Parts: sequence; structure tokens; C-alpha cells
Amino acid sequence: MSISFFNTRTGSKEEFKPLQKDWVGLYTCGPTVYDFAHIGNFRTFVFEDLLRRFLEFSGYKVRHVMNLTDVDDKTIAEANQKKMPLAQFTQIYVDAFQEDMTTLNLLVPNHPAEQPRATSEIPAMIDLIAKLLKAGAAYESDGSIYYRVAAFPDYGKLSRKDLKQNQKGVRVDVDEYAREEATDFALWKKTKEGEPSWDSPWGKGRPGWHIECSAMSMKYLGENFDIHAGGEDLIFPHHENEIAQSEAATGKRPFVACWLHSKHLLVDGEKMSKSKGNFYTLRDLIAKSYDPMAIRVSLLSVHYRSPLNFTLRNLDDAKEAVRKLDDCYFQYLSLAQFGKNKLSHVKSTPLPEHRFTDKITECADEITCALSDDLNISKALSHVFHGITEINFWMNSCVTEFVKENNLKVAAHFFKTIDQIFGFDISQVNSISGDVIKLLGELYVARTAKDFQSAQKIRSQIENLDWAVKDGRAGEPSSVKKVKRVWDQPKK
Ligand code: AMP
Ligand code: ZN
Repeated sequence: MSISFFNTRTGSKEEFKPLQKDWVGLYTCGPTVYDFAHIGNFRTFVFEDLLRRFLEFSGYKVRHVMNLTDVDDKTIAEANQKKMPLAQFTQIYVDAFQEDMTTLNLLVPNHPAEQPRATSEIPAMIDLIAKLLKAGAAYESDGSIYYRVAAFPDYGKLSRKDLKQNQKGVRVDVDEYAREEATDFALWKKTKEGEPSWDSPWGKGRPGWHIECSAMSMKYLGENFDIHAGGEDLIFPHHENEIAQSEAATGKRPFVACWLHSKHLLVDGEKMSKSKGNFYTLRDLIAKSYDPMAIRVSLLSVHYRSPLNFTLRNLDDAKEAVRKLDDCYFQYLSLAQFGKNKLSHVKSTPLPEHRFTDKITECADEITCALSDDLNISKALSHVFHGITEINFWMNSCVTEFVKENNLKVAAHFFKTIDQIFGFDISQVNSISGDVIKLLGELYVARTAKDFQSAQKIRSQIENLDWAVKDGRAGEPSSVKKVKRVWDQPKK
């Protein structure tokens, strides 16, 4: 099945064709490590995680690079404010970010072995700036180096901005700006009092933010690669500048074949951002006892090219969705034990076995089909829950049929597929302890023997272990689901 993505560069949805057969080079702009990432940032990181997981699920080997911006205007300003050396200051937020990634079950970028940090890649940036100077695309002014926007006729193509022509000598020194003017921007900033600096052929200084990503992406993925992703705020000037720097230095176009940008997470119609103060960090929400998986579901639930308005109400809805997935999986696990132990009588069933297989296979196909169409998440998730409903139906109405080995396999495969693609981890983190499994077996024996007194005693024993028991129909096994979950404490 072919996959298509909406490419910001061409402004259209197109079939994805990797430059090298079966391999995908993916660069995602990493966090600026001057504070804890907020869940707006994580909307973008979760979308990028879905993108990578789906490419891998589709058989591609993905080389995923995500940098850490540990030197720029913001990191320097904050470290100075806290009176800490830059490296010591940023390390706090590198650790926090990596911890948060694990909490949200984001795949660890797999190339190179460690996430590249801007401060460790200064030589690659200096080389790139030297190439730009040689090509006439950059110039020196008072110890700093600037990109000459006028030398790059394609400037503005990615953002489709109607940029006014640069007036000679108009330059910008700050990393972030939103001018409607094609402004020469700093590649290398001359050393300043209170700023860290590195030696360069142009004297001591430090890189501008935009050159960092050009240097790191090309170092690890080559001069041309497949996909570059980020939030929509990065289109201009960051990604526009990356294209200008990279293409002017190598002469090879396009620098990146496909650009994917996610829309912002909003709060009351405004972008969630540190500067507006309207943000929650992942840690804020976890302190309020929100389940990370519910946060993941909530951030994923709307198509990446549509804005998503954040409310705590959405998180409650997502929590219900996670509960539905978990409950279904626990019931499956309970019954799978009976299947394995061949405790249940397999009797003739009202529906032929292949009907279940066909329905679940159809749901799995619909999921991949929806995601192949520019990651159509709403459609894909509706088929996830359609599959869950089918599994529930079989478990509740045709238990003895369900425990047939083939149907168990079909259900297990479906859960695994969901986990692989969406990173929900239903089958990874959920298990039923051995003592509960044993009690379930005893309960089955007691109920089959119509020993209702013993059955009631066993049920209480299971409930005391914080599991709810759901009895099957006469002669059929019972199942359990979790009563208290880690994240079910009252919210503050
Ligand atoms: P930063 O740490 O500011 O460099 O941002 C890291 C990533 O988060 C970038 O891809 C940004 O585009 C993205 N981002 C920032 N704010 C939001 C938001 N409110 N919604 C979605 N993505 C965002
Ligand atoms: Zn970047």
C-alpha cells in the first residue's frame, strides 16, 4: 500500500518515495533545553513518534535524528539568570526531556547512538559556515557571520511568505524573529560578555540557532534526505533558513524531499507557549494524576494538520478510551489463560471462527489504510475501537469459541499491532499476576461444580487484590479487570 503525506514544500499531498529503497532518513527538531517541555511541544513530538512508528510498521528502516538545542539565545539567557554554567543548566532539562519521552512512550531517536547536542557539533557548523562564505552566500561583519538572503533566489518558498526584498545591510542577530522581510540572519555570533564561546576562523563566538540544525541533519543523514518534521512555528524562519543554508552550501536540491509540520496545541484559541504562560508541562498533569497514556491518546486524537484545543475535559475523555483498551485486554488475558490451560469446553458455536478473524483483519487493514493517507488518525482510531468492540463482542457472547487458539492469536496480534503503531503499550504494561490467574482457575472449577459458597469466597479473595471479577455465563470462565489504577487517585 502506498503512503502519502502532505508536503509543506510542494503544498500538496504526495506519494512518499524514499531516496534509498527501504530506508528513511528522518530529522525532527529537538527541544530547546532551557525549561521543561510543555504538552504543546509534546503534541509535535507525539505526532513525530506516530510518523516514525507507522513508517517502521510499514517496513521501512528509519534513521531518526533528533537534536538537542543546548546553545541559543534562550538557553544562554536562562542559564545566566540562574547564574549557572550553560552545560550544567541545560543538562537538567536534557535529563527531564528524556525522562518525559519515556513517560509518554516516545521512541528514542536511534541515530547516532546519543542525541546530538549543538554544543558537541560546533566543528560541523564551522565547516558549513566556511562553505557558505566560500560560495558567497555569507559575509563577515564585525566578527559575526551573516547569511546573505539575496544570494538565494528560492528564499521564502517553503513558507510561501510574500517577503519584501531585503534592504541592503538589514540584519537580524536574534535567533527567533517573524519579520515580513527577507532579513540577513546570523550564522555565527561574535563573542559577548557573559556568553559561552568557541574558537573559529573568525574569532571567538557561538553559532546561530538555524545553522545548528542544517549542520547536524546533514552530518547524520547526508546532504539530501527524506523527511524533516516539526511544529508549524518552525516553518519560518527556522526551516526556511535551514533550506537556504543547506542548499547554498551543497548546491544539491531539494535539501529535504518532504517537510511535515504539525499544527499547534491551543489553549482558548491561542498557541500554548511559555511566553504566554498558558501551558502545562507533562509533569504538571502527572502531578494532577493524569495518566500519561491518556495524555498521549489526547495529543494524538486530532489530525496533525488540524489545531487541537487543549482542555482537561479532553483528557478525561482520553482516559475513558485508555480504560476501554485496558479492560478489553485484561478480559482477553483472563480468557487466554483458559485457552492455554484448555479448561473450557470447546463446544459448537453460533458463528464460524473465520468471521471473527475476518472482522479483526479488516479493522487492522482499515487502520493502515487510514494512516497511509497522510496519517488520518481519526479514521484510524475509529477502526481501533471498532476492533475492540468486535473483540468484546466475541469475549462476551461466544466465550468458548473465543478461547479457541486461533481466535486468541488473532486478538493478540491486533493488540500488538495497536501497540506498535500508536505506542499505547496495552500489551506491554498490563499483566495479571500469577496468584490472580490461579484464583480464576479455582473460581472456574467451583462454579462448574456449582459450589457457590466457595465461588463467592474466591471472588472476594480476588477483589481484595484490587481486581473486579466478571463472571462468564454458566459453564464459562470468569475474567478480571483492574479496579484501582495507578492514575486513578483523586485530582488536586
Ligand atoms: P522548542 O523547544 O521551542 O524548540 O520546540 C520544540 C517543538 O515543539 C518544535 O517542533 C515546536 O514547533 C513545537 N511546539 C512549540 N509550541 C507548540 C504548540 N503549542 N503546539 C505544538 N507544537 C509546539
Ligand atoms: Zn531545528
